[in-house]
Amino acid sequence: MTHHVVIVGAGFGGLAAAQGLAGAGVKITIIDRRNHHLFQPLLYQVGTATLATSEIAWPIRHLLRKRKEVTTLLGTVTGVDTKNCKVLLEDGGVAAYDTLVLATGARHAYFGHDEWEPYAPGLKTLEDATTIRRRVLLSFERAECETDPARRAALLTFVIVGGGPTGVELSGAIAELAHQNLPQEYRHIDTRKARVVLIEAGPRILPSFTEDLSAYAHASLERLGVEIQLNQAVSECSDQGVIYGGRPLAAKVILWAAGVRASAAAAWAGLPADNAGRALVEPDLTAPGLPEIFVIGDTATINAWHGKPVPGIAPAAKQQGMHVARTIRMRLSGNAARRIFRYRHSGNLATIGKRAAVIDFGWIKVRGWLAWWLWGLAHIYFLIGVRNRLAVALSWLWIYATGSRSAHLITQGEQRPRAG
Ligand SMILES: Cc1cc2nc3c(=O)[nH]c(=O)nc-3n(C[C@H](O)[C@H](O)[C@H](O)COP(=O)(O)OP(=O)(O)OC[C@H]3O[C@@H](n4cnc5c(N)ncnc54)[C@H](O)[C@@H]3O)c2cc1C
Repeated sequence: MTHHVVIVGAGFGGLAAAQGLAGAGVKITIIDRRNHHLFQPLLYQVGTATLATSEIAWPIRHLLRKRKEVTTLLGTVTGVDTKNCKVLLEDGGVAAYDTLVLATGARHAYFGHDEWEPYAPGLKTLEDATTIRRRVLLSFERAECETDPARRAALLTFVIVGGGPTGVELSGAIAELAHQNLPQEYRHIDTRKARVVLIEAGPRILPSFTEDLSAYAHASLERLGVEIQLNQAVSECSDQGVIYGGRPLAAKVILWAAGVRASAAAAWAGLPADNAGRALVEPDLTAPGLPEIFVIGDTATINAWHGKPVPGIAPAAKQQGMHVARTIRMRLSGNAARRIFRYRHSGNLATIGKRAAVIDFGWIKVRGWLAWWLWGLAHIYFLIGVRNRLAVALSWLWIYATGSRSAHLITQGEQRPRAG
């Protein structure tokens, strides 16, 4: 019987595992509740009307079309029967496995305030991004028709909660949109007067970067017109705005870029987990006591970075996927020795608008326009397919040269599927 590997999640980790198993002589079933692999690092550009959805997502089935041993299933996993080695699907289906790879990622968390989600959407899926794009663009449209100054001011106030890379990238892009791209398109409002307020609970933005890079990012964002509020925790989000540091701020658009919660993979398999729900895995990325199950990427946690936790970023998930593929190959060749995973960090990157970025490679730090170009080249390199690379490069060059964005489309109603 051919060894059957079931991979749940076709994100960075799951796809890397499938790619690493090419030619290994195994049968693979890859299950994802979405039909596409998503390049999340550029999601904020869909949310801020820079790129179109099709430029950062690709059908999983199409990506794996040449791999005859791979079956792609669209389905939502809801559990794992670890005794009988079966994955349980929402529609009642099951998938039996010899080896299981759980790579179901994470989602934003509201620190116990899930009721804030309707007012402050986070950014994780294409639906999230188009919801954000619609809310941002609609706010300008409504402000154009609004005569009451207070209501107009609230429509032109954009609050971003969380000063990590996503919050910094969102606030920089919205500030550029409001202050540089849109002014000539409106007649009754001056979009340059729009307020973009970034609220961070800690003492500085980009806390995972060195202090000098985070200070540079702070100054660059302020130059773009972003108001940064540090050491301020948000205590309320509603359709009226936010309350932070005990003060209310009227705002019709609130975006959530703080907090992460892992998928339910640890609960499915009854595994120990940390406070964010990430499965605590063995040094070889297997589930404790279940060597046939691997848990990787954002849904797992492991201190494999010189004794520190591996960061929740795409290269880490990819490295884990490749590691699992190599372990499975070795096991199949009769070598059952435990292979310890060690994470290799190549750097932290964040962009601030379309002319500056910060990069910390550890051995060298780069900032400003050079960092922006390096950031752009790195992201184009990691996109899938020549056509997408060319399309994104062209979109960026066009925006860079003309300041004009083509993705100003308001689509989708207020209803949106809740992703977990
Ligand atoms: C807005 C944003 C910006 C980011 N920017 C960067 C960046 O600049 N650089 C960087 O390195 N990292 C960045 N990251 C982090 C990076 O995207 C993640 O670390 C990476 O995607 C983790 O890979 P993964 O394989 O663990 O999970 P994911 O890539 O999230 O994939 C999980 C997959 O599992 C599927 N899934 C989930 N639950 C189920 C279920 N129950 N049943 C079936 N399928 C399921 C999902 O549909 C998804 O396809 C960013 C993340 C976000 C959200």
